[in-house]
Order: sequence, then structure tokens, then C-alpha cells
Amino acid sequence: MIRHIKSARFEQGLTSDPGTTEVVTNLLREVREEGDVAVRRLSIKFDGLDRSSYRLDDTEIKRCIDNLTKQERIDLEFAQAQVRNFAEAQKSSLQELEVETLPGVVLGHKNVPIANVGCYVPGGQYPLLASAHMTVLTAKVAGCGRVITCAPPFKGRLAEKIIAAQALAGADEIYVLGGVQAIGAMGYGTGTIQSIDMLAGPGNAYVAEAKRLLFGQVGIDLFAGPTETLVIADESADGEMIATDLLGQAEHGVNSPAVLITNSEALAIETLSEIERLLKILPTAQIAGKAWEDFGEIILCETLGEMVAEADRVASEHVEVLTEDPDYFLENMTNYGALFLGARTNVAFGDKVIGTNHTLPTLKSARYTGGLWVGKFIKTCTYQRVLTDEASVRIGSYGSRLCLMEGFAGHAEQANLRVRRYGKKTVGY
Ligand code: NAD
Repeated sequence: MIRHIKSARFEQGLTSDPGTTEVVTNLLREVREEGDVAVRRLSIKFDGLDRSSYRLDDTEIKRCIDNLTKQERIDLEFAQAQVRNFAEAQKSSLQELEVETLPGVVLGHKNVPIANVGCYVPGGQYPLLASAHMTVLTAKVAGCGRVITCAPPFKGRLAEKIIAAQALAGADEIYVLGGVQAIGAMGYGTGTIQSIDMLAGPGNAYVAEAKRLLFGQVGIDLFAGPTETLVIADESADGEMIATDLLGQAEHGVNSPAVLITNSEALAIETLSEIERLLKILPTAQIAGKAWEDFGEIILCETLGEMVAEADRVASEHVEVLTEDPDYFLENMTNYGALFLGARTNVAFGDKVIGTNHTLPTLKSARYTGGLWVGKFIKTCTYQRVLTDEASVRIGSYGSRLCLMEGFAGHAEQANLRVRRYGKKTVGY
């Protein structure tokens, strides 16, 4: 039986909040209709930054890189190397294919990188420079030709470390733009920004909703909104570690859910008191505490099977598994953005440095997608050849009859022509 030791005050929805949708729809319309004028007006309004051009020039970019300390540069390059290594390994796992499925019938697929990509790097509350490695660098490894990137200013000034990370990741154009105006400018294009084919990257609810609304006009990687975390733990785990890891993600924002699923009531109680203790000392306790109060949950299960079922229902972006046998969850869970197996790793490793991508599905979109990876920047496009007259006649005969079952006379005639031309006969019905 499943029981709540702590319930959330608000249930996390499956879709965006209607109020957010309305705000974002109106902002996108402004950007679409007025282009650069609206982008500038909204940047002043939301981010307090007024510039004649929001594109950074080479001098500004170089200054941001030069202003990194030696250690910052080493750390940043280490993180980018880890992301690059894993992305390159993943890319090498993508196979092209050509196969003869029937005598004389050759089908294949090619992997074609998307030509123009726009990568969003969030920076409202924290300058999330890691998102530059996750998006820009991954798109570059995929082979995308033009990769442009936007990040908001941080507290009204250039977010220098984000800009350095964007540049070191290989961005072709860097803009100091945030929120809906950034997504709209990249998606629709403006007088000064050439539009892209696909948008990628995480962001707050406004950013995630803007990407969702633009889908169709451009491609998007996935719905990657406010962060969520889930810890699965048994009696082998300790409350301090669980509390640390839950609050360490809840600090992202007041709407970031943090959930514990456990089969140990004693651990649940210990975790609750550790959370109370940590909220007295964590510098970001104001945000993390509110997120925990409104969206925090502790779910008590009896069996490992129940724990898997609950975890799949929650379908969280991040799932830490602190149990005696973490591989049980790797084998059995199906809905998650990324798994962090065992106590030696944690979400912060994945967010910042270990090399797996931190742009991950939220609002239960883990039911149908994994996170961002090189494959998302690559189109798998099929092709076909028919090598012999016999094969053309064989496929054409089936094809003609199938077209007519759907009432497509013109389609059928394409097939009929091949049967007459290469078989010197007509299709039998
Ligand atoms: P952000 O860059 O996403 O958003 C900042 C922008 O929001 C501002 O530039 C502004 O234009 C816009 N904005 C702010 N208030 C607004 C309003 N009232 N109306 C319209 N627009 C408004 O930065 P953030 O706010 O710090 O959010 C970053 C988010 O990214 C967090 O929620 C974090 O959890 C999430 N995140 C998600 C993932 C993932 O993979 N799912 C990864 C990293 C971060």
C-alpha cells in the first residue's frame, strides 16, 4: 500500500499553466509583428538591458573569456571536455543504414545534422553557464552548421561567464537576450537575427512555453521547464544525503518539485527532520523551502515494485537511486529524464560536469522522450532504390492495389506506369 508522509500543496500538472500560455502568446505576437523593436522593448522591460544591438561583438566576447580566472577556465574546459567526450561517443553509436529488404529493393537512412540551431542558456536567477555546454557544444558535435545562442543578462549586466562558456563551446553568434523575446527572435527571425530551424535548451516556464508554442514553425528539442527531482531510497540510505540532494535541486525555483519515494518509514522521518535542519542554514533556503512546502512529497511504499510504479508515475526529470541495488531501477523504470545510480553520484554532477546532458524532460514529458543529446540535432532521413525491373513490377502491383483501397487514383497510376513500363503488363486486380 502507498501512503504519503508529506503531500504537495499543489499537484504538478501535465501541461503549462493557462496564464503563462496567454502571457507568452501575446509576447510572441509582439516579437513576430515588430521584430527588433519588440525585442528591445521586452529586453528593457524584463531584463533592464537597453542596447542598439543585442549581438555581442568579438571584443566583448574576448573580454568575457579573458576575465575568467585561470581556475575557472580549467574547470569550464574540464566540464566541456566531459560533455564533448560523451556526445562524441553517442554520435559514433548512430548508425547509417542501407539494406536490401526484397530482391532488388534497397532501403536506407542517412543522418543529417540540422543546419540552423538556436540554443537558449537560462540566466534569470542563476547564470546557468553549464547549459552552454549542453546545448551549443552538443549541437556542434552533431555537426550543425550555424549554432546561435541567447542568454539573458544577469541582474542587468552581461553574464560574462555564460558568454565565455557559449564562446568556448563554439557558438557562431551570441546574443544577450532572455525569455520569450530570445525564443521568439530566434524562432521567427528579426531584421538582425536570421531565424533558425530548431530551438534547444532549458529555461523557466515562459521559455519552455514559448518553445512549445513555436513548435511546428521550428523544431524543438523537448519540453525542458523548471527543474524536478526525485530520490528513490531504502533503509541503506541516509537522511542527510537525501535532504541535501532534494533541497539542492529545489533551490532552482519555487516551482521545482522534490519528491522522495522510500520503503522505510524511519528514513522518511529522518529525511523530514534533516530538511528542517538544512533549511535553517542553506543560503538559498528561501527558494528551496518554498518549493519544498508547495511541491515537496514523501511517498512511502511497501515493495520495490510499488516504488518503480510510483517513480514511473511521477516521471521526474532527475531520479537519484540510493538503494542497495540501484540496477534494479535501471532495469525496471521506464519514465525518467536521467538516472543517477548509487550514492557516489548525484544530480549536481550531471547538471554541471560529469558529461551526460542536463537538458531534460519536465512536466511528465519523460513519458515520451529522453533528454537532449546529439541525436536530437540530427535528422534521420530515409531513401530508397529499386534496382531491377522485376522488383519495380512486384512493388508496383501491390502498391497500385493498395492505393486504390484508399481511393487514390493518381497514386495508383504512378505504380501502374512502372508496371506497364518495366513489366510490359497491367496490374491484376
Ligand atoms: P531563464 O533564462 O529561463 O528566464 C529568464 C527570463 O524570463 C528573463 O530574461 C525574462 O525575459 C523572462 N521573464 C521573467 N519574468 C517574466 C514575466 N513575468 N513575464 C515574461 N517573461 C518573464 O532563467 P530562470 O528564470 O532563472 O529560469 C531557469 C529555469 O531553467 C529554472 O526553472 C530551472 O529549473 C530550469 N532548468 C531546467 C533544466 C531542464 O533541463 N529541464 C535545466 C536547467 C535549468
